[in-house]
Amino acid sequence: MADLDRLQAVLEVELERGCDNTAVEGGLDELIRTQARGEQPGSPLLRMVANLPAAGYRSLIVEERRVWARRAIATIVHHRAEAKAETMAPGTPRPPRPRAMKATKPATARTPRAPKASTPLVPPGPEALQVPLRQAGFRLGPTTFDRLERLGIKTIGDALRTYPYRHLDFSQSVPVSQVRVGVQQTVRGTIDRVAETRMGRGGRMRSSEAWLTDEFGSRIQLVWFNQPFIARTLHAGTEIAVSGTPSVFRGRPTFHNPEFERLGEGGGMHTGRMIPMYHLTEGLPQRRLRDTIATLVERYADRMPDPLPPDVRHRNGMVGIVEAIRQIHYPDSQESLNAARRRLAFEELLAIQIGVVGRKRIWQEQGDAPRIDARATAEAFLATLPYRLTGAQRRALDDVLTDIARPVPMARLVEGDVGSGKTVVALAALLGAVAAGMQGVMMAPTEVLADQHFRTICTLLAGEPEPPLNGLVYLPFLPEPLKIVLLTGSTRAKERREALDAIASGGAQIVVGTHALIQETVAFQRLGLAVVDEQHRFGVMQRSALRDKGGTPHLMVMTATPIPRSLALTVYGDLDLSVIDEMPPGRTPIDTQWLPPERRHEAFTHLRHEIEAGRQGFVICPLVEGSDSVASRAATEEIERLRTQEFPDLADRIALLHGRMSARDKDGVMQAFAKNESVILVSTAVVEVGIDVPNATVMVIEGADRFGLAQLHQFRGRVGRGKHPSTCYLLADDPTPEAEERLSLVARTRDGFALAQADLELRGPGDTFGTRQSGLPSLHVASLLDAQLIARAREEAETLLDRDPRLTQPEHAPLRALVARIAEDVVAEIH
Ligand code: ADP
Ligand code: MG
Repeated sequence: MADLDRLQAVLEVELERGCDNTAVEGGLDELIRTQARGEQPGSPLLRMVANLPAAGYRSLIVEERRVWARRAIATIVHHRAEAKAETMAPGTPRPPRPRAMKATKPATARTPRAPKASTPLVPPGPEALQVPLRQAGFRLGPTTFDRLERLGIKTIGDALRTYPYRHLDFSQSVPVSQVRVGVQQTVRGTIDRVAETRMGRGGRMRSSEAWLTDEFGSRIQLVWFNQPFIARTLHAGTEIAVSGTPSVFRGRPTFHNPEFERLGEGGGMHTGRMIPMYHLTEGLPQRRLRDTIATLVERYADRMPDPLPPDVRHRNGMVGIVEAIRQIHYPDSQESLNAARRRLAFEELLAIQIGVVGRKRIWQEQGDAPRIDARATAEAFLATLPYRLTGAQRRALDDVLTDIARPVPMARLVEGDVGSGKTVVALAALLGAVAAGMQGVMMAPTEVLADQHFRTICTLLAGEPEPPLNGLVYLPFLPEPLKIVLLTGSTRAKERREALDAIASGGAQIVVGTHALIQETVAFQRLGLAVVDEQHRFGVMQRSALRDKGGTPHLMVMTATPIPRSLALTVYGDLDLSVIDEMPPGRTPIDTQWLPPERRHEAFTHLRHEIEAGRQGFVICPLVEGSDSVASRAATEEIERLRTQEFPDLADRIALLHGRMSARDKDGVMQAFAKNESVILVSTAVVEVGIDVPNATVMVIEGADRFGLAQLHQFRGRVGRGKHPSTCYLLADDPTPEAEERLSLVARTRDGFALAQADLELRGPGDTFGTRQSGLPSLHVASLLDAQLIARAREEAETLLDRDPRLTQPEHAPLRALVARIAEDVVAEIH
């Protein structure tokens, strides 16, 4: 039998020496060979040897040696744990709580770490990945499992796929004298003073403070706010590496709440390591999560089936799943980390593309849509407008007209900034459908917006915001008079009945209304084109419900949420995309200013000035973390402040809008504001949807530093819609330098797409689209901006679905599982 303890010891020394093959005299090969002699087939040592090339350990380069040695140690350790588990009959007392799982023990940098528990209930093979973590043999308390579940980690497989958001690179350290503020860095040195301190108002915050001296004698301060216990775990003389982003504190560069690792413990450190950092939940320390995942990676990563078929993998130069999972957690180098990230990102993108391409095919393959030749009518209508379409409007309209002339049901997203003129494009297509003998529908998410669309359409066609008494509009380019009906929650019973009859009989050709209402109650005679305003509120279910409304209509979705093209191809990949990226000429640009706290009164002075001139304004309340009710309370406080302090004389003309109000109440408040009954509308973020009040010329955004750039841009789009020049004020109480930079970017930039792109780069997709779209953040932001990677994923998705439309072939089972896990919720959440 091989002496595995000796082998492990040798390998540890070898690793420590940088894998120069000197841990034993004459090199490791000799030792491995003699030890392997007489081993049973399948023994751990033979498994290790099988991973070596014929020319032996010596023929490996250092990087490969390191990987092999680490895995070899892991094999030995794992073997030992299994042997122990086997000798334990059921019912015997559990082994003592392993030391490494204690929260107080600092993680050593050495990985793979010793497994911490027996594995009595885990089946062999890939089934292990389905095993609930609670049954994986960890000696963790039930609350820890609860916390892990809160992070979405229920099974072993979940844990393996919980990727770190970054790594601390302890392999690259800088001397203290070269530390730069605002840049993430690592320094190493000796603690020379450490103490618990009290900070904050009244000294209520118990914190830890320490000084670190590096080998050149330079010192830097370390502060851990609210973490008094750290002072107890560190001692003068301890050597540590500290990683974080220093900022200036009491006039000096200081590390605030840095991550740290003890040096000299557990070996390995001085060879340099990258340590994973995971997103946490309250009560779950980084180290505990790290240890748990490390153990699971070491034990089970090699059981993961690869969702990428081998040809796809090779064609795109991607590493295998086992390697990717190991390297994403404990990379051997920056390069192998990048390769792992790229591979995992590609896999997610592929899953999403399969989801969206599949969905698009289902929409387009089930049933024909009517061929609608709308060009002549659309042109005739455009000729009646007092302006010409912009080039971008023209291109979008062309796309739509081409699509609806074919029997394949259109599924197109028209994306255009607020005010870019999407409505006329939609109307031109709708009139074309009517001329072809079909009906058209225009759906909006709220009553106010439906109402607004109805009035806009009436104005464009009949010159008045209300239709004539008999409801018929005579248009020279239509063979018959046109009947347009409005259908919302407040349509009266009698009118509603009439409208429904007219829609069912084909007497009404254009229907404007709210999504919900149309979907629940309306049957069309011949629906040819459905236009949906504000994509992100329109779900997949709703889309397929449209089919039941009388055949398969063409579908045009409009959104004012600027989405970078790469992202649109990903999350709206089941829609073809037209972008209106040009504004109609002659707009007075909105003057945007960000004001530091000492100048905030200027915003309210200007607002008063505008109100005195007969205009109106919005005040947006700061984004509040937490529930709707918290946000609503903040809004209530803001309106009190405005009513009592800024504008006591206008107190009864200040209205409030927040998320806790019923849809009906919200609509009521917006209507009153649209009619100039109230002059200031105080609102939480719910006002974001496309309300159009041309008389509103001032937008004040409190706590602007808390909003995303794209969101600020959307707020800003609520003004500047009339003939008077408008101003948008961004107020921030105590902005960080980065926040100031972001606010001035909004002030400088009018292009919503550029801001959305910047947002995505700065804050990630979750923030760009609100927290609800929780499916997205698992994707690396970089991959969402990587148009090339997305294009490749799309191509592969199309090919795969051509060959195996429902991915039912056995070799696609792992891929299908991945699609189910990733794409289903991403797609479902967003649509
Ligand atoms: P949005 O894309 O935000 O829905 P709208 O369709 O409401 O924008 O258009 C905003 C305003 O611009 C409307 O008053 C519309 O009449 C006007 N408009 C649209 N296209 C043009 C154009 N090509 N030239 C001038 N004004 C236009
Ligand atoms: Mg609009």
